[in-house]
Amino acid sequence: MATGTATLHAKSLLGENGWLENVRLTLTDGNISTLEADCPARPGDECHNVIVSAMPNLHSHAFQRAMAGLAEMRGTGSDSFWSWRTNMYHFALSMTPDDVEAVASQLYMEMLEAGFSRVGEFHYLHHDKDGTPFANIAEMADRVASASATTGIDLTLLPVFYAHAGFGGTAPTDGQRRFINSVDQFEKLIAACNITAQNHDGMVVGVAPHSLRAVTPDELAKISQMVGPNPVHIHIAEQLLEVKDCLAWSGQRPVEWLLDHADLSAQWCLIHATHMTDDETTRMAQTGAIAGLCPITEGNLGDGTFPAAPFLAQGGKFGIGSDSNVQISIPSELRQLEYSQRLHHNSRNAIANISSSTGRTLFSHALSGGATALATDSGIATGKPANFIALDTREASYLAEDHILDAWIFAETITVGDVWVRGKKVVQDGRHIARDQIAPRFQKTMCNLLSK
Ligand SMILES: [Zn+2]
Repeated sequence: MATGTATLHAKSLLGENGWLENVRLTLTDGNISTLEADCPARPGDECHNVIVSAMPNLHSHAFQRAMAGLAEMRGTGSDSFWSWRTNMYHFALSMTPDDVEAVASQLYMEMLEAGFSRVGEFHYLHHDKDGTPFANIAEMADRVASASATTGIDLTLLPVFYAHAGFGGTAPTDGQRRFINSVDQFEKLIAACNITAQNHDGMVVGVAPHSLRAVTPDELAKISQMVGPNPVHIHIAEQLLEVKDCLAWSGQRPVEWLLDHADLSAQWCLIHATHMTDDETTRMAQTGAIAGLCPITEGNLGDGTFPAAPFLAQGGKFGIGSDSNVQISIPSELRQLEYSQRLHHNSRNAIANISSSTGRTLFSHALSGGATALATDSGIATGKPANFIALDTREASYLAEDHILDAWIFAETITVGDVWVRGKKVVQDGRHIARDQIAPRFQKTMCNLLSK
């Protein structure tokens, strides 16, 4: 948290209830202590054109950033999610704690440069290369927390419980050895993560049963009770083969099974939820559980199209995550989501309500849904953490209000300029303040990993 006081002025600012003009902010000890609209700038104010809230990134696997650009060569047969996963396991098995910290630091720096202020790290690379737990069972989790501290991004850590290779409690494969815990061992991991959180401002510890493939019903019930009211995240219905296997195991589809066997609420975040029937879509929306959408990764992996229009029409809530971290971009995630719906429905402006801006609709949903999923606050208002973005509007200074968001998301003629997290400016003119230290370490790590 930044200590002391700073004052800023914005010609336009997107507040909780809409656009405000000539806004003066006072930041005190990391929070917004005053917000005055229709107020001229005063001497000493740092002046900006447009300020909007920073965004939560609700789903990340940090180590997968190492694979960005390395999984786009077509193989000898038909490539799929499952052949990509084999490639991903190769990376997962070769990385040391130092490697993970270097890659996560690069990634979190890029997230801040993109305008994300908090990451939900769905963390499952727990053990040493041979599958033995480290002397400190939370060694890898601590490296992720260190990367968040180094870069200044806030962290909702979601330690993953992973125990099985497939539905019905089948034994894990050798390639999964670094992910596997017993329930007792996992309880120790959560306890260690809670101790780490005491030394990291703003850190939240939730829990993530990996998927219905990787946990039994009994384990799911135990794991989801381990963190009190904190978030519970689970991968669900991402792939058609997963739906088929779930039907063979239980006679039910994955989301249908979860709706019938877990007490879903806003505490839960269902990552992907791509393949749902109309009935599942309606029922999921009614629970208040957040849909954790990762449009770039879902497109990259060929997952399918989330039924966004009917889900939102039923009051469903969503946030966005960068998941495999092949690209880090708020506008690209939101645009891909909207375009997937346009292609599916052969229409334009598929998600917004009548006479509403699509950019504003996407941005507002992702902000509030993401914040709920990561147990954090969002939006710009007095008393809230000072997490926001000054947009660089130099190439489109003639635009106002919601057109600014539409131009950012659909044209990218507007870009991220400066970013503050809990009152500290961590990005200036699109560049992280510690990029010169963080980026070379990542480059060196990648050269080492690729020479193995
Ligand atoms: Zn994921």
